[in-house]
Amino acid sequence: MTQTETIFYKAVGNEIEVFNHINQLKLPLLLKGPTGSGKSRFVEFMAITLNKKLYTISCHEETSATDLIGRYIIKGAETIWIDGPLTTAVKNGYILYLDEVAEARPDVIVAIHSLTDHRRELFIDKLGETIKAHPDFILVASFNPGYQKGFKELKPSTRQRFVALSFNYPNPKTEAEILVNETGIAAEIAIKLVTIASKIRNLTELGLTETVSTRLLVDAAKLITNGLPKRLAVHVAVIEPLTDELDTIQALKDLCDLMI
Ligand code: ADP
Repeated sequence: MTQTETIFYKAVGNEIEVFNHINQLKLPLLLKGPTGSGKSRFVEFMAITLNKKLYTISCHEETSATDLIGRYIIKGAETIWIDGPLTTAVKNGYILYLDEVAEARPDVIVAIHSLTDHRRELFIDKLGETIKAHPDFILVASFNPGYQKGFKELKPSTRQRFVALSFNYPNPKTEAEILVNETGIAAEIAIKLVTIASKIRNLTELGLTETVSTRLLVDAAKLITNGLPKRLAVHVAVIEPLTDELDTIQALKDLCDLMI
């Protein structure tokens, strides 16, 4: 990352102040919140602001400690060790962001334990080595809280190793500002999109696994500024990603068409 790089991030609470302290004290940080609520954007913004290198790992059920720590590979007649992203970040003092950490295999959580307490060290079992983290190393993880179906929980013993910040969808005024900044959409249309999102977010009776994220609204706004008719943009960027239930889709379409 170069110093000239900039990124737009609109603070929604006191997360920037908290992160500045995290950076001074090098405490591990957990960002809690639904998909598309700005967690990754926030970490990218802080990395640029603090002029630190950022490694992001999107964790999924196959993500293992080996993927993060490193592995031996065979090159010609030789076997050589290749550091994984976690090891590289630990050695060089980068920010390592484990996105959706609860989705990873349990050995990932075990591997990061000793990095999240006073030891700040990483044990590389395949090398029989323990490395001390660089003084600048910061571990950030994100987690989608369990009130949403289909997401894995994070054990209390793991959660308590992190300082935690909650992310949620921004208030309507802030969210509309984000849409305008991200896409150049007219403010009055941005407000309409945000109003649609608020309405759908309150429809808990639909039982949606995930509701309308800021990310989906940004996509809708991008399509509209690119010339797609507004209703069609809302259908494809906001409604269709939410559900496959035909009745629900129709109900949401009827509702949105009234609003935009
Ligand atoms: P998450 O990591 O929580 O899944 P992201 O950080 O990827 O979500 O956010 C999705 C998109 O929403 C971003 O790419 C950005 O366009 C927009 N966004 C959400 N919150 C903000 C914010 N506070 N400031 C700027 N953009 C935001």
